[in-house]
Amino acid sequence: MIELKNYINGELVKPVSGEYIDNYEPATGKVYSKIPRSAESDVNQAVEAAKRAYPSWSTMRTEERSKIIMRLSELIDKNLDKLAAAESRDNGKPLWLATSVDIPRGRDNLAFFGTAIKHTQSESHRTGEGIINFTTRKPIGVAGCVSPWNLPLYLFSWKVAPALAAGNTVVAKPSEVTPMTAFMLSELCIEAGFPPGVFNIVQGLGGEAGNAIVSHPDVPMISFTGGTSTGEHIARTAAPMFKKLSLELGGKNPNIIFDDCDFDKMLKTTLKSSFANQGQICLCGSRIYVQKGIYEKFKAAFVERVSQMKVGLPHEQNDLGAIVSKPHFEKIQSYIQLAKEEGGTVLTGGETVNPGGEYSEGWYLRPTVIEGLNETCRTNQEEIFGPVVTIQPFEDREEALRLANSTGYGLASTVWTQNLNTAHWMADHIKAGIVWVNCWLLRDLRTPFGGVKNSGVGREGGWEALRFFTEAKNICIKF
Ligand code: NAD
Repeated sequence: MIELKNYINGELVKPVSGEYIDNYEPATGKVYSKIPRSAESDVNQAVEAAKRAYPSWSTMRTEERSKIIMRLSELIDKNLDKLAAAESRDNGKPLWLATSVDIPRGRDNLAFFGTAIKHTQSESHRTGEGIINFTTRKPIGVAGCVSPWNLPLYLFSWKVAPALAAGNTVVAKPSEVTPMTAFMLSELCIEAGFPPGVFNIVQGLGGEAGNAIVSHPDVPMISFTGGTSTGEHIARTAAPMFKKLSLELGGKNPNIIFDDCDFDKMLKTTLKSSFANQGQICLCGSRIYVQKGIYEKFKAAFVERVSQMKVGLPHEQNDLGAIVSKPHFEKIQSYIQLAKEEGGTVLTGGETVNPGGEYSEGWYLRPTVIEGLNETCRTNQEEIFGPVVTIQPFEDREEALRLANSTGYGLASTVWTQNLNTAHWMADHIKAGIVWVNCWLLRDLRTPFGGVKNSGVGREGGWEALRFFTEAKNICIKF
């Protein structure tokens, strides 16, 4: 049985209490490793180490900081296959996906911010004769980073990379559901030569280790990605301490398909935007709205293609692997049941899959398409975060917009049309942080990433992330 460790003050250490949590392999449904059940005392040690490391890390020359971060990025690349296999085993996602998306993106996140700090500028203005006004951006202190299980290393690195690059020291916690690649990253940090205490990784439960990070008085900024209700709890904890807060939360994203779209391209991408990573991507389009003229054609083609998708062992060539955990597996199933009770018809999917043998206890679910529900029902209002989509027809762009904006969330959206006016009009009016037109998940690391309404507060990515992890200071000199 693999026993994970915390990474505190440059060393791999056991939890103070000596207690561990079971970590399950989704493909088999069985425990395969033990995670430190860290508590306040472990987090306190990590914060103390981060505070001690801060003065020298924050004043280190940018080139030197960059070199250390780049070494970590290179080590991820060198260990890509090993990390991808671990990510797939820990999360249940197909190995091909971890190999082609998750781990390369972890590498790229570090490389992006490791180089970005060498190319960013701060502002200077000549306010008038003999008056110069300039703005410096200084790191803040110890950054608290808390990440979810759906894209484990990808989202973990998306936070810690800008925090470290900007000159902060870090105490980070990956999800207790998928701790493995963050643990492996700890080992790579030692190899990369991070000075002790600069980067600390504490494993454990959200309500314990996570809460200890968020409520620690010496952690003045929190970058969190996860569920909306957890985000609300974190905001309540952090607000009275006036902490800087970035919250990347849930979504219930619309995928709006107009009559005049490029049908084949739309269909191919819609299969991905609906079910990639078992539908467990905050950007997946779970509400599919189709204009009436092509509704029946879309329904027939989509249902046929979805029913052909392969669900099975993560390390084999399947479209979908296993669902991440038993509670989540049961939650998704309960939503399929709810959809039926609300009057929905399951057009395909809904069933569990049993690959047999040692995998018979694993958590496998067929991609599911539901029709016949309106936008106000719970199935269409609440985040399911699994391989479940609903389809619903619409008349015109006004109705499409109303449907798109009909939930409390506002993370991402997709619009399929060949009409420039429709594309711009929809993009301008949809209440979401991201609008993809005729594409999905086409990411550029320089662009701001985040949502509106219940999908979050603040933006990650590019300059926005560096801005979050620094404090602006205006200096005005009259000479
Ligand atoms: P979650 O909120 O249960 O957990 C996320 C992280 O927060 C975990 O590390 C967890 O241990 C920690 N945590 C839980 N309670 C805490 C507390 N009281 N204090 C501090 N930390 C705490 O979310 P999840 O189930 O891991 O992830 C799925 C959710 O994440 C979905 O809602 C999904 O939409 C969202 N998500 C959003 C984005 C985005 O960028 N907006 C990206 C990925 C996932």
